[in-house]
Amino acid sequence: VMRYFDERCQRSKKVAEAAKTVIPGGVQHNLAFNHPFPLAMERAEGAHLTDVDGNRYIDFLQAGGPTLLGSNDPLVRLKVNEVLEQCGPVTGLLHEYEVKLAELVCQDMPGVDMLRLLGSGTEAVMGAVRLARAYTGNKWIIKIGGAYHGWSDQLVYGMRLPGTGRMEAVGIPQGSTAHTQECNPNDLEALRRKLRLNRLRGGTAAVLLEPLGPESGTRPVHHDYNRQVRALCDEFGALLIFDEVVTGFRVGPGGAQAYFNVMPDITVLGKCLAGGYPMAGAIGGRRDVMMMLVGGIGTTSKRAFVGGTLSANPLSCVAGYHALLEAKRTDAAGKAGRAGDRLRRGLESIIDRLGLPYVVYNMGSIVHLQTSGVLLLDTSNLYKLWRVKDEAKARKHMMEEMGAAYSAHGLITLAGSRIYTSLADTDDVVDDALNRFEDV
Ligand code: PMP
Repeated sequence: VMRYFDERCQRSKKVAEAAKTVIPGGVQHNLAFNHPFPLAMERAEGAHLTDVDGNRYIDFLQAGGPTLLGSNDPLVRLKVNEVLEQCGPVTGLLHEYEVKLAELVCQDMPGVDMLRLLGSGTEAVMGAVRLARAYTGNKWIIKIGGAYHGWSDQLVYGMRLPGTGRMEAVGIPQGSTAHTQECNPNDLEALRRKLRLNRLRGGTAAVLLEPLGPESGTRPVHHDYNRQVRALCDEFGALLIFDEVVTGFRVGPGGAQAYFNVMPDITVLGKCLAGGYPMAGAIGGRRDVMMMLVGGIGTTSKRAFVGGTLSANPLSCVAGYHALLEAKRTDAAGKAGRAGDRLRRGLESIIDRLGLPYVVYNMGSIVHLQTSGVLLLDTSNLYKLWRVKDEAKARKHMMEEMGAAYSAHGLITLAGSRIYTSLADTDDVVDDALNRFEDV
């Protein structure tokens, strides 16, 4: 494995070394493996990446989720170029594609009557929380299961990074997280207790969760969980916010809310929303809630403010509109999902045959490959689960070694534990990948 990096990745190594002096840690992204050094990419096309040394990889990272059609889709690129020719990247004024994109999302997402475009998933979650507080007049936010909802001060609460302890401890005043609470997924009694307690001291503005479970199913939730959380929110006058940054469009055009048939009051979108182009973030939701972004006529007191110079720029909007339209036309979520199923079945068989300490499960195009943590009794049923002890240290070391091995065998994944499939993952691509996994 190390010979691969020594002999075939010399240009990447140079780029990585130059990066170290001007970029903290030498790398901006923490999605892939960076051991022994990060690989610099030059070309992306469909299911494949090519690095600066000319090595080709199967791309199961797909940029962390946004490129459901596969990387660098030619139709979307063409449409983006058309708009770029006409009006450049931004005017700060209304563009027709902004409306077209909003119309498409409102039509497909059952919980979205109106849409406000923002700069990123992080911004959109911040906006959603503000909106929930403005609408309810309550102050507490309950998030579920240590999930990542972007990196804003109040929402890193409850998260841990390996080796650094709790994230909210560093650079964030205690006051910022004073009204954020955490609750374990699947524990409805604990959630009820928090909601009841909060009622006596300012009320709960929202329960914020990923409908497949934290980190999009790394800790899966019971099949009925979302519906029961919805009922609890109604009972206690809190809004339900679904963070569908990952699941939106990837689980299907209607997102996880259509899949579970549970309507949130506010939906947070990102990633696929702009088809992999920048500025992917939006708050969607019920009309009366969304109108809080405007405020009453003649009064500013009831307006929840959000903004962004580049939000809703024409390039992101045209990219998102055509990527989502194309995803519907081609049934990209369904096909990527079937590629995910095929990959999961193949990986299962390798794991069984070689007796490896892994578990693999998927929800369509979101495939989890875990060495420890949550195990599933039955991968055909995402929601029966039990837990095993997490041997974090051994795991981190092994993940680094494994990561280098994956790269040396031409596979790029999300930190070795998650795989995003796309429309570009034909049976041939998946079977090629399975051979590589087996070699690793
Ligand atoms: N919510 C979830 C569930 C996410 O997975 C992410 C990003 N991975 C975010 C929010 C933040 O989105 P962004 O990176 O666009 O700020």
